[in-house]
Amino acid sequence: MDDTPYDYVIVGAGTAGCLLANRLSAGGAHRVLLLEAGGPDTYPWIHVPVGYLYCIDNPRTDWRYRTEPDAGLNGRQLIYPRGKTLGGCSSINGMIYMRGQARDYDAWADATGEPAWGWAQSLPDFVRHEDNALHAAGALHGRGGEWRVERQRLHWDVLDAFAAAAVQAGIPATDDFNGGSNEGVGYFEVNQKAGWRWNTRKAFLDPARGRVNLRVETGVHVERLLLTAQDGGGWRCQGVQLLEGGTRRTVHAAREVLLCAGAIGSPQILQLSGLGEPALLQRHGIEPRQALPGVGENLQDHLQIRAVFTVQGALTLNQLANSLVGKARIGLEYLLRRSGPMSMAPSQLGIFTKSRPDKAGPDIQFHVQPLSLPAFGQPLHDFAAITASVCNLEPTSRGHVRITSPDPLAAPAIAPCYLSTDEDRRVAADSLRVARRIARQPAFAKHAPAEYKPGAQYESDDELARLAGDIATTIFHPVGTARMGRADDPRAVVDPHLRVRGVAGLRVVDASVMPTITHGNTNSPTLMIAEKAARWILAGR
Ligand SMILES: Cc1cc2nc3c(=O)[nH]c(=O)nc-3n(C[C@H](O)[C@H](O)[C@H](O)COP(=O)(O)OP(=O)(O)OC[C@H]3O[C@@H](n4cnc5c(N)ncnc54)[C@H](O)[C@@H]3O)c2cc1C
Repeated sequence: MDDTPYDYVIVGAGTAGCLLANRLSAGGAHRVLLLEAGGPDTYPWIHVPVGYLYCIDNPRTDWRYRTEPDAGLNGRQLIYPRGKTLGGCSSINGMIYMRGQARDYDAWADATGEPAWGWAQSLPDFVRHEDNALHAAGALHGRGGEWRVERQRLHWDVLDAFAAAAVQAGIPATDDFNGGSNEGVGYFEVNQKAGWRWNTRKAFLDPARGRVNLRVETGVHVERLLLTAQDGGGWRCQGVQLLEGGTRRTVHAAREVLLCAGAIGSPQILQLSGLGEPALLQRHGIEPRQALPGVGENLQDHLQIRAVFTVQGALTLNQLANSLVGKARIGLEYLLRRSGPMSMAPSQLGIFTKSRPDKAGPDIQFHVQPLSLPAFGQPLHDFAAITASVCNLEPTSRGHVRITSPDPLAAPAIAPCYLSTDEDRRVAADSLRVARRIARQPAFAKHAPAEYKPGAQYESDDELARLAGDIATTIFHPVGTARMGRADDPRAVVDPHLRVRGVAGLRVVDASVMPTITHGNTNSPTLMIAEKAARWILAGR
């Protein structure tokens, strides 16, 4: 037994965990322990933006999960990357800075009855930590915060042409996706500093490293929570049990344990601790403590459908990366100027628009890339092509994360259940039609685009939805598996202030708590959640 007295024990040094560790240890009044299963973020490819390709499915940086075979994907299983190192997913992600839409947060306020989740009230929690090199400081953007946002250090003529075509298709150009409505076409802003990845370790842990009241431990796998029954009913979380290099020990938290293990890790730890659907827990020999049927359910993710167009008369990464001269040019450009393809976020050009005119707002997002490949992990095609990857931002399919064993080291079953509703299949077909409409515009005609995937000969809803299942994959945004909700909502896992229902001294603070997925990438929304939670934790709310 380790009796070191900590006030707060944070499980997971990912996106949310690093911010929380910074905020809770500021001022020196509280003793904070931050526990991370992965190692330090010393693997060099973490920091070179294009290196994300080498971090995915790499045991040095990734949990290397696989999804269950998915009927909507015609039985395919996907690799399901989750960062396992300091910085968590912020160390291996695509670096796109995106808040989502104002209506995301207003819907969270409705779902929880807590007005603090509304857009107007959440905006200051985005701005608080922002250091935006592009927009002036004010109500919408911040400068001088920890979370660096920069312009990408390259552009591609072929993507400029696609952007012009999108404008011709009626989508407005935008130079700011983060003002509450992200409708439009433009280059994404990225979390980079001078051509290097900016992860949450650099942003939030480094400035706090000198604090004697913050201890960061890596290589420690948290197995379960320590729960004691309270007089009068309910439970209290006293700390955690962890495994470090084959040795098991416990650590105690005088005030709270904060679960920041992400949308896969947090529900898994809750279930292993007896908090979840009783039948599932009993099936694996775990004594149910508190019935919380929503734990691990409500999994939502963005599915990217990767439409590929071959192009003529344009340079794409396919040609560059497939020639020795091209590779040398890429390497030199990065060495000399920290620019060019090695500084490249995986997706450069963004488009938010409606899949059908009757939608209330933009419900699909394109990530347009000057490259194409048969599948993740495989070499780029040897012909010139772009990928217009498109996501449904309002998925109605719901999946789950469920333990498969009482062994904390066994991966849980992850079943996103993509395209399992008629509406999602319809949006898949419609979104491919939007891609075609853009590619057909005069501004893109000079590149003589030809649809390589799924193939222009397919036109019906059924064909397109089925083929989407062949070419789609996750865009890595699982959320919602320990969602927040009102006191009378039986499927809510945490209350509007993120306290686990029926368990004192325990909160979940990460992407798991989102009741509905945001209209956009999920990293910065997770930071906003942690920013708000830190204030509530310190105020004892
Ligand atoms: C490949 C990829 C690309 C992405 N691209 C983008 C993008 O461009 N823009 C964007 O906004 N979002 C992107 N995302 C999503 C975004 O990064 C995540 O939504 C966000 O990082 C989630 O933060 P989190 O704090 O919930 O979890 P994480 O950042 O995953 O943090 C969880 C941490 O907990 C640790 N942990 C888990 N279990 C345990 C345990 N049992 N014991 C100890 N530690 C544990 C993990 O190792 C990890 O460090 C991407 C994600 C991936 C994987």
